[in-house]
Amino acid sequence: MTQGVSLGVAVEETRRLIIIGSGVSGLTAAVYAARGNLKPLVIEGHEPGGQLTLTSVIENFPGFPEGINGFELIQNMKTQAERFGAEYYMARVEEMDLTNRPFSIRLDDGNTLYAHAIIIASGARARLLGIPNEKEMIGHGVSTCAVCDGAMFRGRKVVVVGGGDSALEDALFLTKFASEVHLVHRRDQLRASKIMQERAMSKPEIHFHWYREVVALEGTPQEGLTAVTLRDTSSGRTERFACDGLFLAIGHIPNTDMLHGALPTNPEGYLQTVGGTRTIIPGVFAAGDVADPIYQQAITAAGTGCQAALEAEEYLTEHGLA
Ligand code: NAP
Repeated sequence: MTQGVSLGVAVEETRRLIIIGSGVSGLTAAVYAARGNLKPLVIEGHEPGGQLTLTSVIENFPGFPEGINGFELIQNMKTQAERFGAEYYMARVEEMDLTNRPFSIRLDDGNTLYAHAIIIASGARARLLGIPNEKEMIGHGVSTCAVCDGAMFRGRKVVVVGGGDSALEDALFLTKFASEVHLVHRRDQLRASKIMQERAMSKPEIHFHWYREVVALEGTPQEGLTAVTLRDTSSGRTERFACDGLFLAIGHIPNTDMLHGALPTNPEGYLQTVGGTRTIIPGVFAAGDVADPIYQQAITAAGTGCQAALEAEEYLTEHGLA
């Protein structure tokens, strides 16, 4: 086993519980597991905090009648878990061996960690359109995070793609900066909640383009985005649409790459559980968005994080490992 200490964390000892992911699910699991005296180690990834750190005010997390800043909520959870003995390790998981026990987790810093139980709470990442030059243009006019990049588009014309809560939230947020916000959706029904629809529809700065898809980008990383090509999904006709920014809000892809197929997923790639948060491998649990194709809410991620910690504690106790 690897010998040594990284960031003050002893890596040679076999942990009772390792939690992969530091979003709301992983941190809730950490609070419960730490209070259960399991001294969990949370592998944070390289962008700790998960998707909540990319949102502005969260208005639907119970207990905060005026809403709470996503970053602040995450920091509070982290401090709370730390108070009860949780530890944090900033690295990304490259691969895991779930066939031998203790389980092993290879990190991108070269270390390998060992644990009797694992909670996978690795969340999900933004989905891309899959059109030419899209990846190259991220950070040069194309963005998957309105809260992070919106302020760079003061007085500019931007396009938001998607018809869910994220797209409308992004469009509303961007009205603070952009001169025009154009919401492009591939059909004429929004998936977003009624309250978000009403808010977006009542904003004169938001223009809706129904039955439209973005099929091409114009511009270079040097000059930035200058236009997109919109395709009419019913007629197939295309048109050039001049704009300075393109914000993608078309859903997410669960982060399961490090598993290399070791656990079953549904057709969209979400981890499948077999009762609560248990996976088909005893001692391995899945919580939060990585295993939730339906709800994907901060509060449901927190709920399954709690559940995973309690189920992990039960498993460790049953096997004399707690
Ligand atoms: P979502 O609800 O899955 O919506 C994704 C949207 O993108 C859909 O309208 C979909 O179109 C469209 N889309 C998907 N692939 C596309 C493609 N290749 N090209 C064009 N459009 C595409 O995702 P989300 O908005 O990120 O929300 C995820 C979850 O988080 C939801 O449960 C949502 O309620 C929640 N959320 C809540 C809040 C809030 O409460 N304030 C904020 C953000 C997110 P179709 O409709 O045609 O499928």
